[in-house]
Amino acid sequence: MILRGRRTRDFRAGGVTGGVWLPAPARRCGAGVSVGWAVGWKEKQLREELTYPVARPEPGVPLEIAPGVFWLRMPIPIKGLDFINLWLLADGPGWTLVDSGLDTPELRAIWAGVTDSLFAGGAKPPTRLIGTHFHPDHLGLAGELCRRFDMPLWMTFGEWSFGRMIWLDARDAVPDQSVAFYARLGFPEAALEAYRKRGFKQYQSAVSPIPESFRRIGEGERIEIGGRIWQVMVGRGHAPEHACLYCAELGLLISGDQVLPRISPHIGVYPTEPEADPLKDYLDSLPRFRDLPAETLVLPSHGDLFRGLHERVATLERHHRRRLADLLAVCAEPKKVLEVFSSLYRRPIGEREMTLATGEALAHLHYLIGEGAIARELGADGIYRYRQSAPVAEVA
Ligand SMILES: [Zn+2]
Repeated sequence: MILRGRRTRDFRAGGVTGGVWLPAPARRCGAGVSVGWAVGWKEKQLREELTYPVARPEPGVPLEIAPGVFWLRMPIPIKGLDFINLWLLADGPGWTLVDSGLDTPELRAIWAGVTDSLFAGGAKPPTRLIGTHFHPDHLGLAGELCRRFDMPLWMTFGEWSFGRMIWLDARDAVPDQSVAFYARLGFPEAALEAYRKRGFKQYQSAVSPIPESFRRIGEGERIEIGGRIWQVMVGRGHAPEHACLYCAELGLLISGDQVLPRISPHIGVYPTEPEADPLKDYLDSLPRFRDLPAETLVLPSHGDLFRGLHERVATLERHHRRRLADLLAVCAEPKKVLEVFSSLYRRPIGEREMTLATGEALAHLHYLIGEGAIARELGADGIYRYRQSAPVAEVA
């Protein structure tokens, strides 16, 4: 069977597109970080001139970075990320929280400290929690906080429903079709066995029960927070319907994982949606951020606050274009997905990083299939191979 594509609907089948949370050890690797960044892209990632105008606060200590906007850094045991940035927005008699952190005892203790200080022992409690997306480092304590403070969870439909689905789908055995997905990609038996052994409960183990109901937010919605308007901008590719929040009055963009400084957000294909083309979603949704003023101060979920949004968007685009060109060149001969790793990553991929690295490589391969530049063929051995079907010049 040969799969070719020119962005047909068949190829992009499915409602919820790419960037799903990966069924990998949640406490060790990857929600937001790209494996290419963690192990090193073959070509060093491009850098641009960004400025980082705000010094990092101590972990767990809220810092006011604009009127009524507080930055809270939370330590997370995710290799390569180490911290997540949460935002607390003064909102009349209470607070609007943006994201919650992973469900760990350490983060629960930090929230207790914030309750004592910023929330005045509960006299000035948060009244709403906005979740940017369903990944465990963002949504892990959302349910717990919503229950504790009796407040609603505001999220896009795609993020809430996907997170709740995965949470409820926790089980001991990995679904056969997920194992078959990696078998078709040529995973050796030892890697398949390691994947089976992980089980299917990592997401649930890092996330407190996600509220049964939510308040839907969507593209373009204007949310009033503390007398100021924050507009929802939906980004795609890293997660199905990732909410970013832009406040023109303050010149701030809460970018979540959609636009990060220094690292590229993880874009991957997973068994949940095997034919997804999340890199197309990502690259399609990225240019809109250039419509925001160049001097916008970006509040990302990982790393430092920065200025240079337009440059950062251009760098991320260039980074992916170059990875696509590398992949296309290496697929002059038919290649299994594991055989393209060496053209993407600087060092060998360990067993724990296999699904991440595969997801990222597949995202780029699927993009090229969608462009009609690469065809996928299922060999007699039951393993997919990818090879050029158009001259390099067409997509490079
Ligand atoms: Zn994420």
